[in-house]
Amino acid sequence: MRVNEIFYSLQGEGRHVGTPAIFIRFSGCNQHCSFCDTEHEHGEELTEEDILERIKDFPARHMVITGGEPTLQLTSSLVDKLHSAGKFVQIETNGSVALPEGCAVDWITCSPKGLPVMLHRIDELKVVYRGQDMSQYDKFEAKEYYLQPCDVKDEAKNECYTTETINYIKSNPKWKLSLQTQKILKVR
Ligand code: SF4
Repeated sequence: MRVNEIFYSLQGEGRHVGTPAIFIRFSGCNQHCSFCDTEHEHGEELTEEDILERIKDFPARHMVITGGEPTLQLTSSLVDKLHSAGKFVQIETNGSVALPEGCAVDWITCSPKGLPVMLHRIDELKVVYRGQDMSQYDKFEAKEYYLQPCDVKDEAKNECYTTETINYIKSNPKWKLSLQTQKILKVR
């Protein structure tokens, strides 16, 4: 498995915001979003055992498997090993690759990025808002719906997206606001 980084922080976005979490960021993605703010290409080859060894001293139960696009490399056996270690496994995915057979992740956060979504279950739909037509998300069933203003590295545009996001949520109250609190707080 090619892993970009493993680190310990707080979940910054969505349903589990503020939860202490161990992050595994897999390298590589099958999308090239213009607004991508993650350096995910580099990485080192690690076995599942290596990953277990790297996380063993972090006290949190919550794991976030992210990327890049983590489903390109995720295995059921890694998830099983994390469960055996007592972990709760959240995955953050663009949804374009089906999870491996029998992959029993505990929480699926899906942020569709234009490709068809191949998931059978979505716990949390997290849409990054940048002025797109929101009706394309009507077809998705999820436990929770989060709308997050896109950070386009332009203060005026970001303010505009934030205002539009809030207005959309007020008119469509099944959605809730997600903010990238890790950027606001300047933590990882
Ligand atoms: S899907 Fe996510 S990680 Fe991949 S390029 Fe788009 S924003 Fe970046």
